[in-house]
Amino acid sequence: MEYSGEQEQFDVVVIGAGIMGSCAAYQLAKHGQKVVLLEQFDFLHHLGSSHGESRTIRATYPEDYYSQMVIESSRLWEEAESEIGYQVYIKTPQFDMGPNNNKSLQCVIENCKSSSLPCSVLDPKQVSEQFKGRFELPENWVGVLTQLGGVLKPTKAVSMFQTLAFQMGAILRDNMQVIDIKKDNEKGGVCVFTSNGSMFRGNKCIITIGAWMQKFVKMVTGKVLPIQPLHTTICYWRIKKGHEEKFLVDSGFPTFASYSEPYIYGTPSCEFPGLVKIAVHGGYQCDPDERTWVSTKIEDSVNSWIEGRFSGHVDSSKPVFTQSCMYSMTPDEDFVIDFLGGEFGNDVVIAGGFSGHGFKMGPVVGRILNDLVLNGEALGVDLSYFKMSRFEKNPEGNVKEFEDQVHSYEPLPM
Ligand SMILES: Cc1cc2nc3c(=O)[nH]c(=O)nc-3n(C[C@H](O)[C@H](O)[C@H](O)COP(=O)(O)OP(=O)(O)OC[C@H]3O[C@@H](n4cnc5c(N)ncnc54)[C@H](O)[C@@H]3O)c2cc1C
Repeated sequence: MEYSGEQEQFDVVVIGAGIMGSCAAYQLAKHGQKVVLLEQFDFLHHLGSSHGESRTIRATYPEDYYSQMVIESSRLWEEAESEIGYQVYIKTPQFDMGPNNNKSLQCVIENCKSSSLPCSVLDPKQVSEQFKGRFELPENWVGVLTQLGGVLKPTKAVSMFQTLAFQMGAILRDNMQVIDIKKDNEKGGVCVFTSNGSMFRGNKCIITIGAWMQKFVKMVTGKVLPIQPLHTTICYWRIKKGHEEKFLVDSGFPTFASYSEPYIYGTPSCEFPGLVKIAVHGGYQCDPDERTWVSTKIEDSVNSWIEGRFSGHVDSSKPVFTQSCMYSMTPDEDFVIDFLGGEFGNDVVIAGGFSGHGFKMGPVVGRILNDLVLNGEALGVDLSYFKMSRFEKNPEGNVKEFEDQVHSYEPLPM
């Protein structure tokens, strides 16, 4: 193909304008880099992972490396909000719950203690008192309450980082589907080619293409990364008449997660009056370019969980509204943040496999990507957990003390 369209030289070309690419472009522009952000669809589309009305931010992780990242990210979310002048981060407490013997939850509690993240460990009676009867736990369950929690507004937040990046000099181009990258033998760095005939030269390149990562990296390098796209569904449930106020942020309702099988999470009633988001971590394997849009099945255990945990205040018969989204799962549910290597050496950095828990990390991942392309390393975070080479040593990736939070996924039922 003749590349007759745009042909510009940049310090950094960022491919993929979800939360990760938008945060990377923002950080790079802030550090004086000439950066272009390329997106295959319209900006703020709903076909990837970073759209919609709410994402949870919480520092309660069984792995200590994530808690530290969330603490930094939380600070960076506030910094960006103060630069733009509007809110995308609504603070709430975070409430985790599960059976006493759940290994992940035990690690969460240990981790809170060792990372000096203040937490209250509550028995079912204390939970009922704390939340004035809004949460009820079975006798052999435990609750963990922390103050670093909240609701992030995804589409609004992506728009915020793109706006800030633009204000700081970044070039933003949508409807630019990247179809290849090649080493630039003429000028050094890389050439990035799009399906509409444009070419962008970058001294460095960052690839943040979410669920498309496996396909793209295979096409460019032949390497098959274990990053599995999943189609998943977010469900909203109706709060019964007269109880709506109890589920509001202003009345102290927290973001929450339940560590039994299935893993259930949710946010206060916020974006749709009278409805509360209660979702299950999981989905169907999918091809991001050929989605069937079939809703994920609601198991009976979810209905009974809702009925039991919310004291009958939520209509547990069926969700009244759903939204579709995609996860990019790695076998150990840890991220992939690494140099692409091979002929590209350290000129191309990839960030993907965010496994359904990446949104809150956008700002810190943006900072890390900025540091990797500018300095070749990122301080303050142990990136060994996120290297691609972990899958060569063990196809399952990082070995965890707890197995109960690592899930397997079903193909789409026919
Ligand atoms: C239902 C659901 C609930 C979630 N809940 C939470 C939560 O509560 N808390 C949390 O922290 N995280 C949560 N997550 C995870 C979080 O949303 C994701 O980890 C995050 O949005 C991933 O962002 P991304 O930028 O990597 O991917 P994306 O948002 O998918 O962005 C990738 C972009 O790259 C573009 N692209 C792809 N290929 C090309 C190409 N060839 N050329 C140009 N552009 C290309 C895509 O169009 C897309 O816009 C949730 C995810 C889902 C689906």
